[in-house]
Amino acid sequence: MMELEKEIREKAERYRDWTAKNLSELIRIPSLSGEEGRVIRKIRGMLKEAGIDEVRIDGLGNLIAKVGEGEKKLVIDAHIDTVDTGDREQWDFDPFGGEIRDGFVYGRGAVDQKGGAASMITSGRILKELGYDGDFTIYFTFTIMEEDCDGLCWNYLIQEEGLNPDFVIITEPTNLGVYRGHRGRMEIEIHFAGVSAHGSAPSRGKNAIYSGARATLLIQELNKRLKEDDFLGKGTIAATSFESESPSLCSIPDKCKIHLDRRLTWGETKESAINEIREIVGDDGRIVIPTYDRESYKGKIFKQEKYFPSWKIPEEHILIQAGIRTYERLFERSPVVGKWTFSTNGVAICGKHKIPTVGFGPGNEVYAHSANEVVPVDHLEKAQAFYTLLPYMLSKGGD
Ligand SMILES: [Zn+2]
Repeated sequence: MMELEKEIREKAERYRDWTAKNLSELIRIPSLSGEEGRVIRKIRGMLKEAGIDEVRIDGLGNLIAKVGEGEKKLVIDAHIDTVDTGDREQWDFDPFGGEIRDGFVYGRGAVDQKGGAASMITSGRILKELGYDGDFTIYFTFTIMEEDCDGLCWNYLIQEEGLNPDFVIITEPTNLGVYRGHRGRMEIEIHFAGVSAHGSAPSRGKNAIYSGARATLLIQELNKRLKEDDFLGKGTIAATSFESESPSLCSIPDKCKIHLDRRLTWGETKESAINEIREIVGDDGRIVIPTYDRESYKGKIFKQEKYFPSWKIPEEHILIQAGIRTYERLFERSPVVGKWTFSTNGVAICGKHKIPTVGFGPGNEVYAHSANEVVPVDHLEKAQAFYTLLPYMLSKGGD
């Protein structure tokens, strides 16, 4: 075993500049959600260069590569879409420059999460060179549309492509910690119907704004009462939009719509969250969970309700233990075991489909979605060593 770790560490170091160069090239190809075609084709080329020839693109547009022939399935996942740059004035460098300087790679997606993707490609290369023939078929998935609708790509892989892994590693940024969950979320709309009348005679109508406003203030109170979980933290709710319609500005509004951002902690579900709202609005408001129905870059529409369940895996679980041991064997100290603040594809993989999932990725999540996104090359090197050793450790039952 010690020999194997040494070999993996050496190879991870040998290829660190190749990983950094690949990441730089991926950053130079903008890939907003729904526009990932070019970057997917680029990754396919890199996988080829890595010696991985079992590569295919599914009906939605996810890229799936395969190494090994084992009976069990381990998937290592990176979403390769990014959010937009925001105000360019706030960037100290070109977000699509992909500059490599002083041991860092700079640009949009460096952390969230083309860095994880680049490390995966190199890990595939190393596994190929090692002639991996262990218990697992290792799938590398490069998935799309996560920033727009987390987990959609994975619902597609599981429900439409029949990919049913035993374990999944999510390579979103964890600052090289071993992560085992995060809160879920959902979007909720409440629609209120009023009765329009002339603004000069409000008593003839029913003002939908007042119904909406009353409910909004009660929702503010609801936020204080929501559940708390020791590991995942507190559930929250926030009104994020308030719209009304009326025949004119001199008329009583007959429609009002509130949009809510609900973060779900452990034990909170779609049903429980809807019931709380129902108690507040009674028969006065209609509750709707919006549907995501954007086209993928391949022109495929795969509809999904905007409900993203929370997930967590116990620290004693074999996958988390294997992650901890992998880290210890490679880096000779204990990892931070934690959780993400934000949401990932884990909402579908583990939240919905209950597949054991662990997070490990290069870069600090504070840079995700912010200006001046940057990842240390050292993290890329360590992540690719981790992805390579983990299947071996998992075979040994995490010991
Ligand atoms: Zn992300």
